Amino acid sequence: MQQAEFCPIVDLTRCLTDLLFDAQQLPAEGKVADYIPALSEVSPTRLGIAVATLDGKVCAAGDSQMPFSIQSLSKTFALTMAMQLQGDELWQRVRMEPSGQPFNSIVQLEWEQGIPRNPVINAGAIVVADVLASHYSASKNTFLMFIRRLAQCQQIYIDPKVYASEQQHGSRNAALAYLMKSFGNIQSEVPQVLEQYFHQCSVEMSCEQLARSWLYLANRGVDPVSNEQICSRKDAHRINAILSTSGMYDQSGEFAFTVGLPAKSGVGGGIVAVVPNYGVIAAWSPRLNKFGNSNLAMYLIRRLAEQLGLSVY
Ligand code: GLU
Repeated sequence: MQQAEFCPIVDLTRCLTDLLFDAQQLPAEGKVADYIPALSEVSPTRLGIAVATLDGKVCAAGDSQMPFSIQSLSKTFALTMAMQLQGDELWQRVRMEPSGQPFNSIVQLEWEQGIPRNPVINAGAIVVADVLASHYSASKNTFLMFIRRLAQCQQIYIDPKVYASEQQHGSRNAALAYLMKSFGNIQSEVPQVLEQYFHQCSVEMSCEQLARSWLYLANRGVDPVSNEQICSRKDAHRINAILSTSGMYDQSGEFAFTVGLPAKSGVGGGIVAVVPNYGVIAAWSPRLNKFGNSNLAMYLIRRLAEQLGLSVY
C-alpha cells in the first residue's frame, strides 16, 4: 500500500477549518437519534473533526474536544479485546461477512442458528461482550481502562443517563441475546452480558480522544506514540477488513465506493476512519441519515480523503 503524504500541521488545521465551514453551509438534513431519550437531547448543530497522525500530532476543528456518546464505535474496542482473549475460536461464534440487514436485525440470526454475520452488528457485538463478561471478573472496568490507555487520558467516563436509557429501552438487544443463548452462543447470563454491552455503548469520548485511541489500527497493531503492541498485525488487518465491509451499517458498500477507508459509525453521530500508515480521522455531527450514519461526519471524511488522496483502494 502506498504511504500517504504527511500534510504539514498548519495546512491540515486550515484544511479542517475550511471543510467545517463548507459543511455548515449545507442544508440541515437528517435526524438526531431518538431510540433512547438521552440521545435525542444532544444539540443537532454540534460539529467537530480531529485527525491524529502516526507522528503523534493531532489537528482539529470545531467541537473536537466535546465528549459525545460513542455508541457503536465501542464495538471496535471490544472486538480488539475479545480477539486477544479468544483467538481464532471467536470466528466459530461470529462470522466476518456483511449482513445486508439493519444493525439490530433479528431475522437473519434465526436462519443462521444464532451465529451473527459479523462483530459490528448488534448481535455480533453482544457475542463479543459475552467474551469479555465471561473472561474478566470486572469486565466493565477493564474495558474502560483499555480505552483510557489507548486515548492516553484518564478522563473518559460512562454517561449514566445514556446507560440507564439503554437498559430501559434494550428489549431488542435482549431478544438478540436470548435467541443466541438458546443456540448455545452466549456463555454468561444474559443480563450480565447486556450490562457489559450497554456499558460499552454509553462511553463518552471526543473526536480528539477517538482519533488518538484508534492509531494502533493505522499502524499494524502498534500504538505509534507509546510503542505498545495493542493487537497483532494480523488482528489489525482483520479489524480493518471488517470495518471496510461492515462498519458503516447498510451503507458500507457506498462508503467504500466513495471514500475508500475502513470506518465505523455510531448512532451518537460519530464516525472514525482508519488511514493505514497515516493516521485516524474522527468526525462528529448528531444528525443521522436513514442508515444511521451521520450526514456531516461522512461529508467531512469524504472531502478530507479526496483532498489528501487517502483512499486505500
Ligand atoms: N446502543 C445502540 C444499540 O445497541 C448502538 C447502536 C449503534 O450505534 O449502532 O442499539
